[in-house]
Amino acid sequence: MSAKLFKGAEYLITAADKNDIFTPEDFSDEQRQIGDTTEQFVLNEVIPHREAIEHHDLPLTVELMKKCGELGLLMIDAPEEYGGLELDKATSMLAAEKLSQAGSFSVTYSAHTGIGTLPLVYYGTKEQKERYLHKIISGEWIAAYCLTEPGSGSDALGAAATATLSADGKYYILNGTKQFITNGGIANIYTIFAKIDKQHFTGFLVERTTEGLSVGPEENKMGVRGSSTTQIILEDAKVPVENLLGEIGKGHKIAFNVLNVGRFKLGAGATGAAKTALTIGIRYANERKAFGVTIGTFGAIQEKIADLSAAVFASESVVYRLAGLIDHRLATLPKGTADYYETYQQGIEEYSVECAIVKVLCSEMLADVADGVVQIHGGYGFIQEYAAEGYYRDERINRIWEGTNEINRLLIPGIILRRALKGEIPLQKEAMKAFESLMSPSFEELDDSIPFAAEKALIASLKQAFLVLAGSAVQKFMDKIKDEQEILIAVADLAINIFAIESIVLRAEKILPKLSEGKKASVNAAVKVFTFNSSEKSASAARRAAYFIAEGDTLTMLLAGIRRFTKYDATGLLTAKRQLAAASLEADRYIF
Ligand SMILES: Cc1cc2nc3c(=O)[nH]c(=O)nc-3n(C[C@H](O)[C@H](O)[C@H](O)COP(=O)(O)OP(=O)(O)OC[C@H]3O[C@@H](n4cnc5c(N)ncnc54)[C@H](O)[C@@H]3O)c2cc1C
Repeated sequence: MSAKLFKGAEYLITAADKNDIFTPEDFSDEQRQIGDTTEQFVLNEVIPHREAIEHHDLPLTVELMKKCGELGLLMIDAPEEYGGLELDKATSMLAAEKLSQAGSFSVTYSAHTGIGTLPLVYYGTKEQKERYLHKIISGEWIAAYCLTEPGSGSDALGAAATATLSADGKYYILNGTKQFITNGGIANIYTIFAKIDKQHFTGFLVERTTEGLSVGPEENKMGVRGSSTTQIILEDAKVPVENLLGEIGKGHKIAFNVLNVGRFKLGAGATGAAKTALTIGIRYANERKAFGVTIGTFGAIQEKIADLSAAVFASESVVYRLAGLIDHRLATLPKGTADYYETYQQGIEEYSVECAIVKVLCSEMLADVADGVVQIHGGYGFIQEYAAEGYYRDERINRIWEGTNEINRLLIPGIILRRALKGEIPLQKEAMKAFESLMSPSFEELDDSIPFAAEKALIASLKQAFLVLAGSAVQKFMDKIKDEQEILIAVADLAINIFAIESIVLRAEKILPKLSEGKKASVNAAVKVFTFNSSEKSASAARRAAYFIAEGDTLTMLLAGIRRFTKYDATGLLTAKRQLAAASLEADRYIF
């Protein structure tokens, strides 16, 4: 059965089948090989220098980037015609996941291969690519992306940097300051956004040696300390007109579309980091003794291991499901056409809702894992000598950059509602149907012959809850809904949890027949644990939304509907948690 080509956010109104999703178990030998090469590079070349990197040995970081280039790890997303490998997003995410074990170095790598390189790949002219791309994908040059300013971060279009055409028409003269630029101190080329004539937001490719460009001092950061973060200062910087990127006044397209991939890569990196951090936690639980036994024998510790393992497995399911969605769409594009890269980035933009979901879900999952692993370590988790402390500091930035999690949450319903208004998603029609089922519920017995019947029933009813609440909010506030952030965030939480539960359930259903009995039990346990935890979060988000939107009889009706829509029979939950923890402790690592 071939996979259905899902549109962005369509999962909210259409049930997906297990064969519609890509999972890590579907990797080809070639994809696995790239994953292995990346992992070997990290273990052999980066980890031994971790201390030096964390203490800001930037020349070493630059050397290691060159080695990455020699191994082909910087050319995964670059077009073949310019010497790149042009591999699928699943491979690109696998490399990002494996690199995440490299701590701060992975920040350098991700910023370079993602937001640093992709503006040129997607929007550069042939001449620009010929001039710069080879240097970037070989590691000879390092790339950075400069959007944020001291006075504008989330409000990126409020940038104050300006670009003015010189009298001879040969240069744009750039002025302004860019803030918190990853790779700022080591980059050779910067994608810089500035407003031409103070109004047309536009991208520029700016070489480091450009007259008038200077680099500020390195920031002293809470985490990812080994990465370079500086201001980029532009004082009458002379940028040749041929270095304008894309079209005048269309810089927002570059800035935001590239962030979609950045968010996606962040999710893959967070998943990789969580696997390693959790393994460290599990090993400690097997070693540390208290009250005469190892702490892993305590239910309190086991429950953490179970909850966190299930959450990591779910995040991984979500990341690669999205990789499959994007790869499937990109594979339908005719190659070699003049507008190939425009349609390519549109293909990615189609899944901007899912990219935001991945960013929020995976960054918050990693936060829970890092926190849980510190807690498992007790006092030692607070001491720098132990790796848990570093994971705890390093994860924090993920909820801030690539759009804060607030901004990403607001984007999710924002994009969905915009597409519904344009008629791209039949949200109104589906919301009407959901209202009908709210008013006249039908009680269907679960069909136990269907795999994961209880979970699938929950997913279907959570989608109803989403439609009812989003529909009620739009009905009440009309176009003013964009100002009701608390409601939008609650609705976004529902959308995130639905995608996550559906992804883990479909993955489990797809892979179970090929697993050993022991592994089957662990996967079934992870599904139960994660579905229960997410159903609780969904119920809380839905109730919040209902209280925010309605009052009186309408509120009573909504709350009654939510009780029904979020019902999940998690019989056997304790056994599932203990099974998952026991398997993890037995394996002495994160097991999936
Ligand atoms: C280590 C590091 C590396 C970075 N690397 C780069 C880089 O390479 N390139 C680059 O361009 N930028 C980079 N950034 C910048 C980063 O993307 C921004 O810090 C981030 O987008 C938030 O912007 P801000 O710091 O100005 O916070 P603000 O935008 O001032 O936000 C402050 C708070 O207000 C909330 N908020 C803001 N607006 C809204 C709204 N409309 N609705 C609801 N809540 C809102 C935010 O969620 C946040 O909680 C980096 C930052 C750091 C710390």
